[in-house]
Amino acid sequence: MLKNLFEQFADLIYKQKCVVCGCSKTNQILCKTCLKSVQKLSPFAQRKIQGVDIFCAFRYEETIKKLIRNFKFNKRRSAAKPAAKLLFEHFKQVCKENNLDINPKNSILVCVPSHPFRIFQRGYCHTELILKELSVLTGIDTDFNIIKKVKNTTPQYKIKANKKAQNVHGAFSVIFYEKYKNKNIVLIDDLITTGATLNEVIAHLKEASYNNIICFTLAC
Ligand SMILES: [Zn+2]
Repeated sequence: MLKNLFEQFADLIYKQKCVVCGCSKTNQILCKTCLKSVQKLSPFAQRKIQGVDIFCAFRYEETIKKLIRNFKFNKRRSAAKPAAKLLFEHFKQVCKENNLDINPKNSILVCVPSHPFRIFQRGYCHTELILKELSVLTGIDTDFNIIKKVKNTTPQYKIKANKKAQNVHGAFSVIFYEKYKNKNIVLIDDLITTGATLNEVIAHLKEASYNNIICFTLAC
């Protein structure tokens, strides 16, 4: 608890510093210069995994890379806000351009979670934080029980591309809830590279009879 308090205090101090470049010029969690440098992707599906459209908001270049890295590995939990805001802008555009009706009545937000031990070490689950912020922006409810990470895997970026699928195999479990049977399962993750993690999660979701899945990632 002391550790958590200290981290929240550290976040307060750092709050006015840009999570990417560390400048405090604009008093923003993501400064204007960094915001301008992100490379937006088109509002159409960048990838398809097992028939599920994957919409990625940004190219995984320096700015987004630093944002995700600082968020995930350097305890900058305040990065959740700009990350969710950026994702929300993309979400709105995707829905508009693809005529998708994803609303609070017909959808539920879920994320690719971290393992409980990793959450204990970090003090938070970064994708859960994004999801909570996104829920406020979209009005769509979240569910953190559907997908659980049951195996504490080595981070995918440390694994060779051809071993990534093996690394996440059996790492997640999915529970089926009747109440979500006909809902859109809006799956959120920070990053897609080889797609091994999302492939694993989507396979479990489908196996559990969730049929309407759509996926958004911050970067690819
Ligand atoms: Zn900056």
